[in-house]
Amino acid sequence: MRLRYKPNAPQKIAEFPQYIPEQPDNWVGKWQERFDNDRPIHIEVGTGKGRFITEMAKLHPEINYIGIEIQMSVIVVALDRLVEEKLPNLQLLHVNGGSVTQYFAEGEVDQVYLNFSDPWPKKRHEKRRLMYKSFLESYEKILVPEGEIHFKTDNQGLFEYSLVSFSKYGMVLEQVWLNLHESDFEGNVMTEYEEKFSSRGSRIYRVVAKFPKKIN
Ligand code: SAM
Repeated sequence: MRLRYKPNAPQKIAEFPQYIPEQPDNWVGKWQERFDNDRPIHIEVGTGKGRFITEMAKLHPEINYIGIEIQMSVIVVALDRLVEEKLPNLQLLHVNGGSVTQYFAEGEVDQVYLNFSDPWPKKRHEKRRLMYKSFLESYEKILVPEGEIHFKTDNQGLFEYSLVSFSKYGMVLEQVWLNLHESDFEGNVMTEYEEKFSSRGSRIYRVVAKFPKKIN
């Protein structure tokens, strides 16, 4: 997703430090303190304009959500939503999802969502895919033992790649949906991309994969 450069984006982000912290590395190991409760933390890497994470936060006040997005022009759209909804259980982070270990302590996160991640179809760009092994290593560090990744996409090639990448890493595929919208899965919350592609007839794939038990 590319949006036109928004010249007022940095100013807008600076205006709402209560929703999008200026110094996110100050909160390593202290996110529950920031939310002022001890509820589980779920993050979405590549949150885009924030439709999914905002809806999830509204539906699940018992969970703390953090949406991570690398593009400033995109995260400000998610910020607009959050400012309007004023959700106490949602925070946004304008950082690279490849650096999550800089912003979360070991075992601080309970679940990772990846939704309609950029496919980077060229082999030479494989390392940019959000389920490449270096990303998996980072997610594993910040997740609780046996933490899960929930991934949805309309891209068959990226889906197949994710199944192989998760499996090679030693993760357990807990459940796989080859046609989510035709399945009996309940409570699906649509993302922006999901709405767009499914309305054009694309099939939606979903997988839940769990990290292996850590052996010390
Ligand atoms: N998840 C949203 C949805 O389903 O509608 C957005 C999908 S869009 C195709 C992928 C998003 O991931 C883009 O907004 C992009 O900027 C973001 N992204 C890509 N690589 C990222 C990274 N390394 N860290 C954080 N965000 C990333």
